[in-house]
Amino acid sequence: MVGMSPATPSPPPAASAATPAASPADEPDVCRLADLIKSTVAVELWCHAPGCGHHAVVDTAQLIRWFGAAMPVPEIARRFRCSACGGRKVHSRPAWGAEGPGVVARHTK
Ligand SMILES: [Zn+2]
Repeated sequence: MVGMSPATPSPPPAASAATPAASPADEPDVCRLADLIKSTVAVELWCHAPGCGHHAVVDTAQLIRWFGAAMPVPEIARRFRCSACGGRKVHSRPAWGAEGPGVVARHTK
């Protein structure tokens, strides 16, 4: 179940992918959507509002359609607000877990 809504009512048009917007987080170790889609990892969004703690997992392919593959994962949270409390204290991170490479490595069958 996806419980988060994009803050922008309509996703940007595909043409915006060509916009030469200098990425604010251009560090080499930043995790981008392009990295996650390669590993089939989704993105987890958490609400940090006091007493809320709502969280959701969003499909990476859907996020790439909205924001482009070069979007740094930590930046995604700024595009969302919590659908439970309406707050903007949303944090995003890769949903390393069930389908993550770490789990595969531990699978010793
Ligand atoms: Zn919330």
